[in-house]
Amino acid sequence: MPRVEYTATNLQNCRCSNCPVRETSACIAGKVAALGQMHTSGATAPMAAPQALQMLFCSHAVGKSECTDLNTKLACNCPGCEVWTSHNLASAYFCSHGAAA
Ligand code: SF4
Ligand code: SF4
Repeated sequence: MPRVEYTATNLQNCRCSNCPVRETSACIAGKVAALGQMHTSGATAPMAAPQALQMLFCSHAVGKSECTDLNTKLACNCPGCEVWTSHNLASAYFCSHGAAA
């Protein structure tokens, strides 16, 4: 399984931004609002610090979210995402469980 890198292209393809788990986290909303990038992919230069955007959790640079209010009973958008498919990832909820192994 190829390691997922923290790149602008992978950020663009990441589907975390409209995932119910991420959208319902007050902690993530607060972090992203503070950054002023609530509705952007973060794909523009310069790259934001890995945990700042709260996306691309499957990458080793990001990994598990610093937020602890994630409702993992809601659906994860990872399966079928371009990054997920191209890296042959098999699991999901990387924001809660950590980066893809
Ligand atoms: S697999 Fe999940 S965390 Fe990784 S890029 Fe896709 S949506 Fe984002
Ligand atoms: S890793 Fe999965 S559950 Fe977590 S925010 Fe991304 S798409 Fe949603």
